[in-house]
Amino acid sequence: MDNQLFIALLNPAISLTLAAAFLLLWLYRRRRSHLLMVAVAFTGSAIGFMLQYFVLPVGLPVSRLLSTLSFTIAVLALAGAVIARYGRTPPWGQMGLLALGGLAGFAWFMFVEQHLTWRVFSINFAFGGICLVVAAELKAISGRGAIERMMIALALLSAANFLIRPVAAMALYGSYQSYDGFYSSFYWTTAVLSHAVFSLLIALSLFTDEALVMMHKLHSDSLTDPLSGLLNRRGFEAKASALLETCARMNLPAALIAADLDRFKALNDRYGHAAGDRVIVEFAARLRMAAGTRAVAGRLGGEEFAVLLPMTDLAAARLFADAVRTVFSSAEIDGLPPETRVTASFGIAARAGDESLAELTHRADEALYHVKRGGRDGVRVSYQHVPEDLPSMVMLRPA
Ligand code: GH3
Ligand code: MG
Ligand code: MG
Repeated sequence: MDNQLFIALLNPAISLTLAAAFLLLWLYRRRRSHLLMVAVAFTGSAIGFMLQYFVLPVGLPVSRLLSTLSFTIAVLALAGAVIARYGRTPPWGQMGLLALGGLAGFAWFMFVEQHLTWRVFSINFAFGGICLVVAAELKAISGRGAIERMMIALALLSAANFLIRPVAAMALYGSYQSYDGFYSSFYWTTAVLSHAVFSLLIALSLFTDEALVMMHKLHSDSLTDPLSGLLNRRGFEAKASALLETCARMNLPAALIAADLDRFKALNDRYGHAAGDRVIVEFAARLRMAAGTRAVAGRLGGEEFAVLLPMTDLAAARLFADAVRTVFSSAEIDGLPPETRVTASFGIAARAGDESLAELTHRADEALYHVKRGGRDGVRVSYQHVPEDLPSMVMLRPA
């Protein structure tokens, strides 16, 4: 294999491999449609390069135009994919105009006025403009992480590569009149190499991005209860402990509410497990609505729930629990006879001293147990006297 052919096949080989990898990734995660666009982009670039080296029966000029068209599709698809990845609508109008301008310039200097250098400029400037549009779009996203900053840097570097490299190449080595010697020129060699490097860097960033998204999802799935959408026990303990610590550090009150559906076993036996599940979903929805974004709510198992309320004392927590109890016990539930009402019992403990989440939970559970024993469908608070020596210790602590 001679050197020229090896270099010629470098980019199509890289592009096709990356296209296959992104296609595979998309087949596993079809909702991530930008992955398919990336596969299209790399396929377009592979075809573009092949058409630079192999002339179709339609003749050289049309083959080169088709090659440029493939590159244009590749650039547009990649730009659109990167922007769509962040939930933004790609500015197709703006990018399409740049692409059309580039193609029109290319066709003009191919079929009307033969000028290879201006063909190169036309299409490169259009691609550079599209890269700048991508950078501007990515800059507008909020909460940028390392990957997003990397993508912006890559978009800006690609723009520089398209805008500066051709001009520098022509300034250093003169302009090109025809394709004779073009493929061994400084311009083309650097085009091939920079394409390979940028392809790999962009693909690596997108793969890393996908891996991070997947890991984040696995982590959050491991903390979430799939039926109710609330945190599961593990998630609740992690988030509630962190919130309790924040409250302690800022000297704010916090209260824990333990809730348990009443006579749930009987309800399951009578109406079936599916109806029971719907009751759990309904109760969780009300709890979530009442908790808002401030509090941490979880389904600890079966028909047991807990909410940790920050900046909340015993009286406020009692109002909260009573509101949820009243709203829930008067709700009609899909799939149950209209007159059927399901109730729940609540136990509340407000943090005293430096109580841990486990201690607080224990007291809330005790209060809940009393409600159950007293007939259910009620709210009870646990009164905790702060240990005798604690106030003096607090007072003696230097400010
Ligand atoms: P109490 O009023 O004393 O709380 O009585 P209970 O029947 O609600 O309590 P118990 O602990 O005896 O029964 C809880 C039942 O919850 C037993 C189990 O069948 C049911 N359960 C647990 N998890 C689920 C679930 O995910 N879906 C459904 N439908 N039922 C569940
Ligand atoms: Mg129960
Ligand atoms: Mg129970």
